[in-house]
Amino acid sequence: MEIFSHQPHFSQAMMVCQALKGAGFKAYLAGGCVRDALLGRLSHDFDVATDARPEQIEPLFPKSLPVGKQFGVVILPYQGFQIEVATFRSDGEYRDGRHPTEVQFSNPEQDALRRDFTVNALFYDLDEQRVIDYVDGVSDLQKRILRSVGDPQRRFAEDRLRVLRAIRIAAQLEFDIERSTFQAVGDWGAELAVVSQERITGEIRKMLALPSRVQALHDLQVSGLAQQLLPDLKYFLPNHELSARRTKHLAHLYGKESRPAMLWALLLWQEVESLHQELENAEDWPPLVAGLVELVLRHLKCSNHEIQETTYVLTHYRDLLDLPESDAFKPFPRGQLHNDEVSTLLLLDHPNGVTLLDFAMAVAALEDQGVEQILFLHTEYLSRLDRQTGRLPPSWVNGHDLVEIGFSPGPEMGLILEELYRGQITGDLKDKKEALTKARALRTEWAKNSK
Ligand code: ATP
Ligand code: MG
Repeated sequence: MEIFSHQPHFSQAMMVCQALKGAGFKAYLAGGCVRDALLGRLSHDFDVATDARPEQIEPLFPKSLPVGKQFGVVILPYQGFQIEVATFRSDGEYRDGRHPTEVQFSNPEQDALRRDFTVNALFYDLDEQRVIDYVDGVSDLQKRILRSVGDPQRRFAEDRLRVLRAIRIAAQLEFDIERSTFQAVGDWGAELAVVSQERITGEIRKMLALPSRVQALHDLQVSGLAQQLLPDLKYFLPNHELSARRTKHLAHLYGKESRPAMLWALLLWQEVESLHQELENAEDWPPLVAGLVELVLRHLKCSNHEIQETTYVLTHYRDLLDLPESDAFKPFPRGQLHNDEVSTLLLLDHPNGVTLLDFAMAVAALEDQGVEQILFLHTEYLSRLDRQTGRLPPSWVNGHDLVEIGFSPGPEMGLILEELYRGQITGDLKDKKEALTKARALRTEWAKNSK
């Protein structure tokens, strides 16, 4: 019991088992929660396996949701989490490579045999305080091996999602995948078309969010699965070893990170870099980056918001990294910020600015170049923030002000407004009055130059 006592929500899971037992049924903790407790890891969810049928479970728990009743699964919702209570079952024939056509209620042993991996097929009897192991899962747990229950070829043929679960769960636990299981991952990787893109992307997301994401990326690459799932990313191909290695280095540097745009930027980064190297004209880069992000993330069915944020990060991180050596480190009083540096402050002053900053910092740390410069600019940015809005202060001068002093609307006016705002941010201009004087001066100067 002690092995569970530190797990969140254990007391609720224990009460669920007690209620079932009190009504005369068997009730064990099952699957991932037993595995995690034996490994001393935190579990996110508790599953309970029982010989009670759904119609016998429901009356014991008035708030239960019979969402998977035909598969023998009843959900018990609590505040912020849920416990799944499932009747011992064996799965019938699998026809579509994903779901059994029917399930039969059965006994604990059959229920263990239908589960995907041996370490996921353990039960725990709370009363007797013992693990119930029909598949040698405890031994694999001790050896830190992920192994299919039964013949991996058959098990992956039944349900192809298991191919991805194998890579994700092995990385999550930092286990090795047993040889014939890994062979089957490679063999069935090409047959994932029957799995919905949402489920596939869900597993990729989980893999990338793991602190041990390097292992998942490595296994995806070595098994050939990466090429199946992400055909537009060339760096997973065998002759692009350097790019793959750089991605893994960055993946390692990330540590704890689950923001989607950071994860997708990691995945796409080397591809974006290769576009950069092939470029003749720097201005061609943003649309190429946007096109690539759109292509890959649409295919993965990511949300518009994720696509837009990832595009922002990948289009601009080089602007932060490639800043020329500046006056920034001159002793005080320093010179003005360069134009490029002001542009960086404006890039940071955007809803996606923090993600951009964090991604650029990670790449700078990897390349061991530009970290101090980025930190300096971030400090400069923070020092200029308007306390109330948490953003850079609004511009002193707007279009109306310029019209009032005789400007006519047009592209020139936009350029002047931008110039004035830059002056305001750098401190070059002291107030609105000075800004308007500067506007007039700029107009005269530009008029002269255009003659
Ligand atoms: P985690 O919750 O950390 O992602 P888990 O092993 O608990 O890992 P769940 O998806 O919560 O995974 O599933 C609970 C249990 O149900 C698993 O431990 C496994 O026994 C079984 N299971 C889940 N998905 C499958 C599947 N596709 N095929 C066979 N058994 C499965
Ligand atoms: Mg689980």
